[in-house]
Amino acid sequence: MAIFKDIASVRQWRQSLRGPLALVPTMGNLHDGHLALVKLAATRAEQVLVSIYVNPLQFGPREDFANYPRTLDRDLQRLHDAGCQTVFAPDDGLMYPRGRQDISIVMPPRSLSKVLCGASRPGHFAGVCTVLSKLLHMVAPEILLLGEKDYQQLRIVQQMVADLNLNVQVLPGPLQREADGLAYSSRNTYLNPAERQVAPLLAQTLFDLARRSTSAANIASLTTEGWERLEQAGFLPDYLELCDAQTLQALDVPQPDARWFAAARLGQTRLIDNVIVPL
Ligand code: AMP
Repeated sequence: MAIFKDIASVRQWRQSLRGPLALVPTMGNLHDGHLALVKLAATRAEQVLVSIYVNPLQFGPREDFANYPRTLDRDLQRLHDAGCQTVFAPDDGLMYPRGRQDISIVMPPRSLSKVLCGASRPGHFAGVCTVLSKLLHMVAPEILLLGEKDYQQLRIVQQMVADLNLNVQVLPGPLQREADGLAYSSRNTYLNPAERQVAPLLAQTLFDLARRSTSAANIASLTTEGWERLEQAGFLPDYLELCDAQTLQALDVPQPDARWFAAARLGQTRLIDNVIVPL
């Protein structure tokens, strides 16, 4: 297995490739959602590179950067077992050699980045866009794989790629779920057994709201009902909204190409999920 830790070696490898390269950026603690992206990448490109880097720039001061699960050995084993042979694992010194305080950053459009998660995580999407821009410049892949689990991130990066004329095709991967509906997430490992039992209710609520978001539906009352259901189960909801899947602006009436989005805290764990409306 090739594990690149500096820019020169990843670029040298990249230049030696004949066919197209797909990049799957991750923060590690890999699960089946990540591996599905890797498998999808392998159907679209001859070579797949997975990056593993916990990007400090996208964590707020009171968020879980210090505790974020770092499981590199296990991740490498999982990738090896899945047939992925190439990993880029930079460290902070490589990504932010002058520190993080006074550097150039990539600022996504307000309309996409101040809503949903952006409302309670200021600077998060600028951190995401900055690190992804750097990775794209370091690796120069033809294809960039992003999961629909982080749907807002996907839309923002698609817009960044268009706005900055980046020469890469963004390929979305479907959201992968555990058997009980809970979306795979690296943060699920924070859940204690009792919370893990309750956690699938977030997805169940979104699926229920999506199914009932017919053209005659009253979205305000569906939202109130969903919010109360989450609270009664022990969640502390951050947002629960029906939004246009392209603009991410909140909708008060159903329309085609809409999605329900939610973020909610369960104990110490912040979970996010989204479900398409089958209109
Ligand atoms: P992360 O390691 O959380 O930064 O995620 C790396 C990539 O995996 C992102 O593009 C995520 O959207 C994607 N991803 C994470 N969880 C899932 C999931 N349950 N289904 C599909 N993609 C996922």
